[in-house]
Amino acid sequence: MLKIQNYINGELIAPLEGNYIDNYNPSKGEVYSQIPNSQTNDVELAVKAGQEAFPAWSKMPKNERSKIMVRLADLIDENLEELARAEAMDNGKPLSLAMRVDIPRASANIRFFATAILHNASQSHHMEEGFTNYTLNHPLGVVGCISPWNLPLYLFTWKIAPAMASGNCVVAKPSEVTPMTAYLFSKLCIEAGVPKGVMNIVHGLGAHAGDAIVSHPKVKAISFTGGTATGKIIGRKAAETFKKTSLELGGKNPNIIFADCDFEAMLNTTLHSSFANQGQICLCGSRIFIEKPIYEKFKTAFIEKLKTHKVGDPFDKSSKMGAMVSKEHLEKVLGYVQLAKEEGGKILFGGNKLTIEGSENGYYMEPTVIEGLDFNCRTNQEEIFGPVVTLTPFETDEEVLEYANSTQYGLAATVWTENLTRAQRISQELESGIVWVNCWLVRDLRTPFGGVKSSGLGREGGFRALEFFTEPKNVCIKY
Ligand code: NDP
Repeated sequence: MLKIQNYINGELIAPLEGNYIDNYNPSKGEVYSQIPNSQTNDVELAVKAGQEAFPAWSKMPKNERSKIMVRLADLIDENLEELARAEAMDNGKPLSLAMRVDIPRASANIRFFATAILHNASQSHHMEEGFTNYTLNHPLGVVGCISPWNLPLYLFTWKIAPAMASGNCVVAKPSEVTPMTAYLFSKLCIEAGVPKGVMNIVHGLGAHAGDAIVSHPKVKAISFTGGTATGKIIGRKAAETFKKTSLELGGKNPNIIFADCDFEAMLNTTLHSSFANQGQICLCGSRIFIEKPIYEKFKTAFIEKLKTHKVGDPFDKSSKMGAMVSKEHLEKVLGYVQLAKEEGGKILFGGNKLTIEGSENGYYMEPTVIEGLDFNCRTNQEEIFGPVVTLTPFETDEEVLEYANSTQYGLAATVWTENLTRAQRISQELESGIVWVNCWLVRDLRTPFGGVKSSGLGREGGFRALEFFTEPKNVCIKY
C-alpha cells in the first residue's frame, strides 16, 4: 500500500515517529494509502528548513523566483490527468470536475501570483517640507498554510502561491482526508527546482500537526481555510504569538431568485450552485429563496432537472455527483436531513444514502431538496456542507434580506434578477463578502475573496494576498 511521505527540506521523508494514518477512497469505502501522522517534531524540522532557506529565497531576484513558480504551474498542467485522478480518488469528486476545475485552477493560482509579483509597485509619498517616504514590503519568514478537503489542491495552492511568491518559506498541512495531490505536488516541487526548504508539507491530523504549526513561535502567519469552529481555535492560538491570521471559514449562502430573472439560466446555474462537488463547496447556495409568483414553477422545474442529475462513481463520465468525502461527513449530512424532518421540513427530493452498483461501500447520497422550514430553524442556520438545499418563498425585498442576513455567516450570496436597480440595492444590503448577480462562482483572481461575520477574517486574492504575506516598512528620508 502506498505510504505518503512528508516533504521537508527538499526531500520526501517518513514521519520521525514512524506512525501512519489510513487514507480512504470514499467512492469505494476502502483504505488505499497511508499518510504520516506527523507530530510537533516533524513540524519543528519543517520550520527549521524554512528558516534556513528564507534568506536566499527572499533575496532571490523576483524574476528568478517567478520563473521557478511558473515552471511549477507548467508541471501541474503537464500532469493534469494524474492529479485529477488522484483528487477524484481521494475526495470522491467527479473526475470531470477535477479535470475541468480543480487542477487547472491550481496551476492558475501559482501562475497568477508568480507573475503578480512582477507587477507589484510599492508606494512613495513626498512631503513638501523636504522629506520622502517610501514603503518596503518585506516577506515575513516562515508561514503556515492549512487547507481543507473539499477543493484540496485548489485551496492548497491558493495559499502557498502568494506565500512563496512574496518570498516566504512555507510549512503547509493539507487535510488529513485528502493528502494525495499535495503529496504529488511535493514531487513536482522537486522537479521544478524549488530550492530545498522553501516549500515544506507536513501531513497529519489538525489537532497534532496543524496545532504544532499554529503554535510554533517562529511561524509568522497562518493562512487557514476550514470550518468556523476550527477557525476560532486557530485564531485564539495564533494570537498568543501575535501571528498574522487570514481565516476563510464556513458559509450558509443565500441564493435569491426574483420572478423577473432569466429562468433557464437561473435554473441551470442553481443546479450547480446547489450540488457541485456534492454541495461541499463553501460557496454553494444552500438556502434558496424564491419570489412567490414563481415558487411553484421553480420547484417543479428544479426537481424535474434533478431526476437526471446522476450520482455515481467519480470515474464514470456520466456522473454529475460523486461520493461524499468520508463516512463521518456523510453521516453528519444525513443527520441534518433527519433534523430538517423533525423541524417540520418536507423532503421534496432525495434525503437518503445511495448504494451504487459496484461501489456498495462508497459514501453516496442523493441530492436533497427540502421545503416548509422556518428561516431561523437550525437546518436553515447551520452549515450542512452537503448536497442539501432548502426552498423558501418570499414576497418583498425587505423580507428576503431579513432571511438572507439572518445567519451568523456571510461568505457569498447569489441574486437572480433582470432589474439592475434591484440587483444593485440588494447587493448593497447583503451581509456578505461576495455577491454574484446572475452567475455563480465566477472568479477573477485579482478580486478580494473572503467572508464577513463568522465566515472569516481578512481577504485573500490579488494584491491583498501578497499584502498579507508581507510586512510593510515605511522609510522616511530627509533631503
Ligand atoms: P476543518 O476546519 O475541519 O479543517 C481544515 C484544516 O484544518 C484541515 O487541514 C484540518 O486538519 C486542520 N485542523 C483541524 N483542527 C486544527 C487545529 N486545531 N489546528 C490546526 N489545524 C487544524 O475543515 P474541513 O476540512 O472539514 O473543511 C470544511 C470546512 O471548510 C467547511 O466549514 C467549509 O465551509 C470551509 N471552507 C471554507 C472556505 C472559504 O474559503 N471560506 C473554502 C472551503 C471550505 P484535519 O484534516 O486533520 O482535520
